[in-house]
Amino acid sequence: MNCPRCDKPIDEHEAGRETDVCVAVVVMGWLDVKMSRDDYGGQPMPEERNEFGELLIWKPVPEYSAPDGIAAAWEVVERLRASRYVDIGVDEHGAQVQIDVLREGNWETGGSTRADTAPLAICRATLKAVSNE
Ligand SMILES: [Zn+2]
Repeated sequence: MNCPRCDKPIDEHEAGRETDVCVAVVVMGWLDVKMSRDDYGGQPMPEERNEFGELLIWKPVPEYSAPDGIAAAWEVVERLRASRYVDIGVDEHGAQVQIDVLREGNWETGGSTRADTAPLAICRATLKAVSNE
């Protein structure tokens, strides 16, 4: 299965900024991301506001796939949960992730993958779960 953003096989996505941007656009619904050597800024969903109620226009893409980025990766799972019934299984080493999604009363595998780290596995599995639809 290929990524709808970059057309590369999802299981070949490695930890890094390219994968972070794919997750931001495909899973998190960011509208636009511009990339340069030191600018991975993007425009998040239009309803996203800061604690002062101000609309956020551009901000750095979180490091969803970073080996120590489990908190950011979990935000991706929560994003899926906001619109779907989602069950996620992570093995004891955190490297095998399966995401099941409830569709029309039946549980289906939305995305399943293995990676070196849990955050990267979560990124790949959520990309598959969204691309599957
Ligand atoms: Zn991609």
